[in-house]
Amino acid sequence: MSRIVFDISARAGAGRTGRLTLANGEVRTPAFMPVGTAATVKGMHPEAVAAAGADILLGNVYHLMLRPGAERIHELGGLRKFMNWSGPILTDSGGFQIMSLSKIREIDEEGVEFRSHTDGALHRLTPARAVEIQHALGSDITMVLDECTPYPVSEQEAAASMRRSMRWARLCRERFEVRPGHGLFGIVQGGVFENLRAESAAALEEIGFDGYAIGGLAVGEGQELMLQVLDGLQGKLPEDRPRYLMGVGKPGDIVKAVLRGVDMFDCVLPTRSGRTGRGYTARAEINIRNARHSSDPRPLDAECACPVCTNYSRAYLHHLFRCDEMLGPMLLTQHNLHFYQTLMANLRIAIAQGNLSDFASSFLAGTAQGDIGPVSCPTP
Ligand SMILES: [Zn+2]
Repeated sequence: MSRIVFDISARAGAGRTGRLTLANGEVRTPAFMPVGTAATVKGMHPEAVAAAGADILLGNVYHLMLRPGAERIHELGGLRKFMNWSGPILTDSGGFQIMSLSKIREIDEEGVEFRSHTDGALHRLTPARAVEIQHALGSDITMVLDECTPYPVSEQEAAASMRRSMRWARLCRERFEVRPGHGLFGIVQGGVFENLRAESAAALEEIGFDGYAIGGLAVGEGQELMLQVLDGLQGKLPEDRPRYLMGVGKPGDIVKAVLRGVDMFDCVLPTRSGRTGRGYTARAEINIRNARHSSDPRPLDAECACPVCTNYSRAYLHHLFRCDEMLGPMLLTQHNLHFYQTLMANLRIAIAQGNLSDFASSFLAGTAQGDIGPVSCPTP
């Protein structure tokens, strides 16, 4: 019996919409999880993250175990209380960050040893310890520790790495403490090799998880290969369990993955882009630092109902970024999170109404149009 309830209310092709019931709240799917790496969605008050439409946040074991430490967060009431987020949280196990951020790492059958990217201190993470840390943080959804296979690698290397991750997945499953509303997700690995992905999916299903994530993508393989992996997994993941595509992605990637039956996503793009002056609109990705916005009184995205587009002009946002004012990244992050959550809400509606493929085509065509033209110079 599963410990978390996943109700699928409607399907459109391979796409589905529904509701995931967790210990600390419900998640409408398809769902986008803003990334709260260091117990904060950078530049955003938690209330504003919720107001943007997020049901669930993602936290990072790697960052939190280094600073301030999982046990300290536990003593302070858990991650949700620590950061004042009332909804559910999912924590990733640290595998990806160890591969991408830490300086020195040694992987063996028992786990991984690495040096912190902040102070160089030596740490060790094992499958059991990764589960313990997530328990201490109070995660609604715990992710298994996996070895994130780099890209590109040979099929032989991808196979060895995937099979180790499957052995670790079993150890995580054994260590996981069953509690109502709390779930453990397995992670499908295997690089871009369809046979390895299928082997990984079958191995995880045999162990039995509450949900199935697809990991090791969005690491530079490009959208075409990512979609190829998703196509190869069609029919190979349990129908009645949530599917989570880790670290993806751009709005177009999300739409195409929802068409292929993915239910959950996380990505740093809306927040990271917001901090660097990039905003998403229904027509384009915009660089607000560009001089063409300096005297533009129009909102960033006329179709967006967020507080930023309602109250501020492109000219003001441009000014904030040119002056390095902290409000600039805050406002652009807020808009980007609204944009992502509005996209998820529209995907859910389209699936419920049975017109997902029409919505997807029109969204993708819309974002290919390019930005609105610059404001014309007033006649002197
Ligand atoms: Zn907006």
